[in-house]
Amino acid sequence: DAQVYLVVRVARLGARYVLLLAEDRTDSVRLDEVRKDFIANISHELKTPIGAVGLLAEALDSASDDPVQVRKFATQLTREADRLAKITLEIIELSRLQGIDALANPSRVSIDQVVANAIDQNRVAAEASNISIVTRKPSGAKVLGDEPLLVVALHNLIANAIQYSPDNSRIGIGVSNINHTIEIAVTDQGIGIPEDERDRVFERFFRIDPARSRNTGGSGLGLSIVKHVVQNHGGDIRVWSQPGKGSTFTIRLPEAANASTSSGADQ
Ligand code: ADP
Repeated sequence: DAQVYLVVRVARLGARYVLLLAEDRTDSVRLDEVRKDFIANISHELKTPIGAVGLLAEALDSASDDPVQVRKFATQLTREADRLAKITLEIIELSRLQGIDALANPSRVSIDQVVANAIDQNRVAAEASNISIVTRKPSGAKVLGDEPLLVVALHNLIANAIQYSPDNSRIGIGVSNINHTIEIAVTDQGIGIPEDERDRVFERFFRIDPARSRNTGGSGLGLSIVKHVVQNHGGDIRVWSQPGKGSTFTIRLPEAANASTSSGADQ
């Protein structure tokens, strides 16, 4: 909405004049609201797994005579604890990102390197489902920014592609340079995203239906982290999808201008 928050100060200048000073506080008021929302979301998201951990610990205690039950509750307890740890780490990552300007002190980042690192981090998960990750030949693309953050972004896209794809499918990663814009596309052959949910998947804590994924331990924060990283780098992210066929997430980033060193000439 178009509300504006002004702080107005009035000072009298002699008998005939007053001085009005208006300070626009709109940005800081909005930031405050975003922060309050975020904290409300966090408490809501943490309550469920914390409650579950408590209940499971009690169940474990009262089932101590029955080894089968003990094992069952212990497995569930581990799963909830893992989920809690994952959500907590993602919350920390996201709040850290909200205060970062990746372009304040940027380095020249090789996108081929970012892609290689992000694939490496997902290799075990992909192999577990016999999913192959296919890349094209090195692009030579360079952008300005923060390499670890870009790896986090691409890591999350690949992790989702694995998460929402069937066993034995393929994930393709393509990098292209279109008029000085670097496009990194991650394409899967997974379940896809219904059209009316496509804009919302980048919202914090938004999940379509936890039962859709092979592992229900998501937090709904992965894509909002990606979006933050990309926006911090002056880029944007879009999604194309065909339910039942697959999805393509495309990150677009401004190409780094040619440095005095070589590297810009590769295609
Ligand atoms: P989550 O932790 O639930 O994976 P994300 O923010 O990463 O959270 O994603 C938000 C939602 O978008 C997911 O719950 C999932 O339903 C949907 N989604 C994300 N990536 C894909 C994909 N590659 N294919 C299908 N659905 C996806």
